[in-house]
Amino acid sequence: MKRITWLIFLVLSLLGLSCQAALLSPTPIPDAPLATALPDSLPTASAPAPSPLPTLQPTAVPTEIAINGADSLNDPYYPQMGNGGYDVLHYTLDLSVDVANNEIRGSATLEALTTAALTSFNLDFHGLQVSAVTVNDAPAAFSRQNDELIITPDTPLARDTRFTTRIEYSGRPQPVDDAASPGEPVGWFADAGIYVLSESAGAMSWYPVDNHPLDKATYTFRITAPKQFSVAANGLLISEQITGAMKTTVWETSHPLASYLTTLVIGHYNLVTETGPNGLPILNYFPPDAGGDVTSAFKPTSEMLSYYSQVFGPYPFESYGAIVLPIEYGFALETQTRSIFTTDFVDEVTVAHELAHQWFGNSVSLTTWKDIWLNEGFATYAEALWIEHTEGKAAGDAYMQDIYANASQHHLAAPEDPAVRNLFADSVYLRGGCVLYALRLKVGDELFFKILRDYYSRYQGGNARTEDFIAVAETVSGQDLGAFFDEWLNSDQVPALPGQ
Ligand SMILES: [Zn+2]
Repeated sequence: MKRITWLIFLVLSLLGLSCQAALLSPTPIPDAPLATALPDSLPTASAPAPSPLPTLQPTAVPTEIAINGADSLNDPYYPQMGNGGYDVLHYTLDLSVDVANNEIRGSATLEALTTAALTSFNLDFHGLQVSAVTVNDAPAAFSRQNDELIITPDTPLARDTRFTTRIEYSGRPQPVDDAASPGEPVGWFADAGIYVLSESAGAMSWYPVDNHPLDKATYTFRITAPKQFSVAANGLLISEQITGAMKTTVWETSHPLASYLTTLVIGHYNLVTETGPNGLPILNYFPPDAGGDVTSAFKPTSEMLSYYSQVFGPYPFESYGAIVLPIEYGFALETQTRSIFTTDFVDEVTVAHELAHQWFGNSVSLTTWKDIWLNEGFATYAEALWIEHTEGKAAGDAYMQDIYANASQHHLAAPEDPAVRNLFADSVYLRGGCVLYALRLKVGDELFFKILRDYYSRYQGGNARTEDFIAVAETVSGQDLGAFFDEWLNSDQVPALPGQ
């Protein structure tokens, strides 16, 4: 993940852009379309409510692109990410972590539903040594091919049946190369303890996974590590049990998440808890020596939760909180329910950005990576909304006018389908945020906020595409917005703002 580049250093330091510090945006290159059409609508999850595990509801894997046993979901940006023929419902990761030697040992147990009759199926898995695999408790044959783990059950699996597969493995996890950040791998890192930052391809660095946002699933993390360390992951902290020198910590989440949003952090941290709106548990992990300059940025978290819940719809998950890594890496990531920051990239606007992703990006997930502006454009515009809430409408407008001026001055490329190497480029963040600002100017406040709420309401817990957002905007506004979105999302020139 890159740091801020020279040309836009000033505006970025002003804006505190996050998730990945941005790059300049070369002209996009065309990419092949999805090999198979996606369905018009995807199922949405019911309203969030803390509930005991297991709540194993199939998530949105369109059977139309779930090819029998395929090694791919045909995402044009990540053709090897994801697999066909099944939908994972729940992962249980039961791992012992030797922090000093950076080695892990344990198992991943996946509960899944077939979407095709399967004689074999694939998982994405990078490095590490697999010692045994079972399917429905019977030993299964397996082989490795690059980052694919190919499992052949003793008995073929019928379509639409539940099955369980358990993979025992060990070794030293290695972060993986990612086409969106060449030369800067993602996934599992051993630095100041352990941390995991996976966007986009990194989850397979530490567990076998159907590694695409289309296959969201719930998780249990059962992590055994030396007892002096804190262990943080997604969801709720269920238990900690000390046995001798070791401690087993269990985290669970009952809301589906995309694999790139899973995390595990092990190290020396102070856990600071508070209660947010409607009793929401907020669990923040700060370095023991974190000063007020770091922790103060998180003081508005509860108010942000209230505000965004009012604007977008109810907060999607069972908990929230931050993990501040004791490293300087110029980075923040919206890992689900527990956003990660580095100590040199903590400010109120970035905190707002990562929180807004819990609605847009995390609850409403990508269908394909080329629609990344649905994550980053929304989170960037949410920064302006927070400023508007705290400092008034003129301040929010000024913030977006600065971003628009920057986008225009630098002729930022179209945010839709930016090419994988530009997945986290300025065009996606800045021009992507301007798409929403321009839409608000075009349709007016009342319709604009209804569009945001209706879009979230319809796609929460599932996956959406750019076309889905446009369809909601047209339905709510009663306007034909095809030309408007085409110009803002696809044209080489940054359009003029409506009415200006
Ligand atoms: Zn972001």
